[in-house]
Amino acid sequence: MNLKERTESVALRCLGSLNARMELSESEKFYLSNLEAGFEGEVAFDKLSAKLKEERYILNDMLLEANRSDFQIDSIIISEGIIDAIDVKYFKGDYVWKDGEIYTRQTGYKCKNPFEQLNRSNYLFNQYLRENKLNFLVRFTLVFNHPEFTLYNAPEDDSIILSTQVNRFMAEMDSRPSKLHDGHKKLANILLTSNKDGSNYSKLPAYTYEGIKKGIFCEKCLSKMNTFNKHFLICSNCGRQEKIENAIVRSANELKLLFPEIKLTVQTINEWCRAGLSSRTYLRALQKYFRVMGNSKNTYYE
Ligand SMILES: [Zn+2]
Repeated sequence: MNLKERTESVALRCLGSLNARMELSESEKFYLSNLEAGFEGEVAFDKLSAKLKEERYILNDMLLEANRSDFQIDSIIISEGIIDAIDVKYFKGDYVWKDGEIYTRQTGYKCKNPFEQLNRSNYLFNQYLRENKLNFLVRFTLVFNHPEFTLYNAPEDDSIILSTQVNRFMAEMDSRPSKLHDGHKKLANILLTSNKDGSNYSKLPAYTYEGIKKGIFCEKCLSKMNTFNKHFLICSNCGRQEKIENAIVRSANELKLLFPEIKLTVQTINEWCRAGLSSRTYLRALQKYFRVMGNSKNTYYE
């Protein structure tokens, strides 16, 4: 049973939106593509874990704290006899394992050590369980699930699952019978209650309302969208069409995300979208998809 779904992180959504609206530096683009790949890999893993039979609780994308340190676990799968804590790495291409580190094969670039992260999370999660007087066995696993991932000189280590072993790893987990009781429920509830809000704006580039481009941008290629007919917008570059209503709501959500302090009104959304649509069109979309707040003179939407 899935108790916590995964959603795109605030950082990923903000950067994705900013990517259309300003010039990101190379390192910001690299960070964005890492976030995108990471999310893709986690979603791919979720599809497998969703198929698990028997009674299990699945909690995705958890941010917890122990010892006054934050730590993240991509997937926690609670079964009768064990908690599986899983870190997903969606590396693509050829890598080399050397002296406990991973390097890209082509350029020799040393990757951020996933085992260090794993050991840290392992230590902190066990600490967390002790702090909460929870007595469970935990198994940590690092899953490399990109189908095109190769690790030369890979260590023989059961806590590392390579893409060719993922199906067997899941099948093995699935074959373990599992009946959950109140203790597991309590554990899951404590985890859910202590899960922290991951919105962290600090890693984002500095941006201002005045400094970024306004408009409605294509979801696929990030180019500007223009009116096509009464109901649709069209991308000036790739020709993708989108329902006007849909595009307005999407842009309104971007405005809320990038500038939480700006109130959503017909005027602010008009200025933000600059798509040459009538106030009535904006009003209809806001009324349909957002909640009306304030009084008749100062109406805004949430
Ligand atoms: Zn496009």
